Amino acid sequence: MKKEVICKKCKKPIPIKSKALDRAQLVKEKGKEFELSCPQCKTTNRYHVNGVKAKKSLFQNLVVSLIIFSILSLSVFYVFKNYWFKSVMLVYMILSILGIPGIIYAIYNKQQNIAIKNFNRFRK
Ligand SMILES: [Zn+2]
Repeated sequence: MKKEVICKKCKKPIPIKSKALDRAQLVKEKGKEFELSCPQCKTTNRYHVNGVKAKKSLFQNLVVSLIIFSILSLSVFYVFKNYWFKSVMLVYMILSILGIPGIIYAIYNKQQNIAIKNFNRFRK
């Protein structure tokens, strides 16, 4: 999840660095209003915490996908190395291993959606 406000001047999104999961936490961290300078047009403005929107972070999704993919490759490699021609269960094991990353990603995605909804719903 990433958080951003829309620049008052150029209307481009300004990313906010914060680990806050909802607006209450963001207020504790930065106050109800805070100054931000836009990386695009370099203007500094004051922004209210209610103007902050949570969104999906493509970068975070990419990192999670990469982690899941590495776990998957390592697991498949491990199974092949140790059980190839040794176990009739191999096919079933690989099939179940292939299912795990999908499940992890689905859970991650769902939690992220809940966090984003939560953040966008409560206003201070
Ligand atoms: Zn701007």
